[in-house]
Amino acid sequence: MAKKYSIVFIFILCNVFHTSLQAQEADTSFIQKIATSVLTKGAAYENLRHLSKKIGQRLSGNAAMYKAEDWAAALLKSYGADTVIKQACKIPNWKRGAKETCTIYYKGKAAKLNVTALGNSIGGKAIGKKIIMLNNETDIAKNEKSIKGNIVFLTKRFEDSLVSTFEAYGKTGGIRRAGTQLAAQYGAAGLMIRSLSHSAADNHPHTGSTQTDSAKTPLPAVALGLRDADMLEQLLHNGTTITASLQTNCFFRPDTIAHNIIGVIYGKENPNQIITVGGHLDSWDLGEGAHDDGAGVVHSIEVLRQFKQLGYAPKNTIHIVLFANEENGLRGGQAYADNFNSITNANAKPVFALESDAGGFTPRSIGVLLNDMQLYAHYKNLSGYLKKYGVYDINANGGGADIGPLRRKFGTILSGFQPDGQRYFDVHHAASDVFENVHKRELLLGALNITAFIYLVDFYSKF
Ligand SMILES: [Zn+2]
Repeated sequence: MAKKYSIVFIFILCNVFHTSLQAQEADTSFIQKIATSVLTKGAAYENLRHLSKKIGQRLSGNAAMYKAEDWAAALLKSYGADTVIKQACKIPNWKRGAKETCTIYYKGKAAKLNVTALGNSIGGKAIGKKIIMLNNETDIAKNEKSIKGNIVFLTKRFEDSLVSTFEAYGKTGGIRRAGTQLAAQYGAAGLMIRSLSHSAADNHPHTGSTQTDSAKTPLPAVALGLRDADMLEQLLHNGTTITASLQTNCFFRPDTIAHNIIGVIYGKENPNQIITVGGHLDSWDLGEGAHDDGAGVVHSIEVLRQFKQLGYAPKNTIHIVLFANEENGLRGGQAYADNFNSITNANAKPVFALESDAGGFTPRSIGVLLNDMQLYAHYKNLSGYLKKYGVYDINANGGGADIGPLRRKFGTILSGFQPDGQRYFDVHHAASDVFENVHKRELLLGALNITAFIYLVDFYSKF
């Protein structure tokens, strides 16, 4: 009897092994199909050209943002989305106004600096005020007396020793995010910061969101191009007294309405399990928002396009979400989570979400964020399928600003596409974030790996 059972057991084991081997072979050959299709007939690059050159920068609330919404909705429809949803959300409506100016005066000389107002700051003037140099935002409170009535200049740099540029950005970002509010609170006349970037070859200033105090005190708050920041820092180190005339002209109009654009493919087996893939449609107003986040937008659209072109009917429902207002409010991501069940069945659940918002560079890895270690091992193993195409690792650092609210509300597994980050902060939020700085092959490799990964996530459906 025992022998008979063990023979049956071995037979079953062989069968299971054979079936999983067959599944693996099917996966490998289907991913090869995806790869060939994206690399030879992928539309991501031409779509990015249109978004960057024909539509351009898409600051929340401006006319181009609405043009981008219509373009994206029409494109998703033309690629065969089962339906396209325009999900409304209320957004802040910040305007830069006339171009900001900064002139410094020292030793009888005057020099104009390359500056950009920080997003969400309220315009103001500081004329002929002394510049006080500090390292970071926490130094503001410690130097209340010396900064009163003067312009604070925060010089904190990216740590060159960090391999991850995103980590460097995270560690330095406080000077931009919190600097304005603290400068106003402690009576400074204005704020200047070193741009959040590694030393690039140019002198473009890099904008980005800053917090203002609840009274929304007008205060000129700007970022400096890195060469100008170096020059100013050197002069101040040498003990030179410098005054500056700084003016910004930004203001808020009343909140307005924008839309998350959502392309849907209904799942054939588990239509109430939703896999979300997205990037953000808005951008800052200085460049064309090509890497940030035009790349994520065209990556995401390509997933739907490839599934339809290759005739892959997903088991779960796929939402391609082009989020509104990531840059200066995060209202699109919040609205998608808050109102999730108003665009799905009442018992539908977002089981997995991937965001691409790290640029259109060469793929390196994908991060996932989940609690169950067994499940983590499953996702980590999927990198075996992707190594050949450039994703060599699946790590535990997944996530994204737009999909964060899904995890907080539903416990969704989060995932982030991680391309090479060494050049990202050269162009991030600057006038140099243009189509010409996105490389076609690198962008397509991103679309390929994201499409292949989402296929595997859907096919194995382990959530
Ligand atoms: Zn972004």
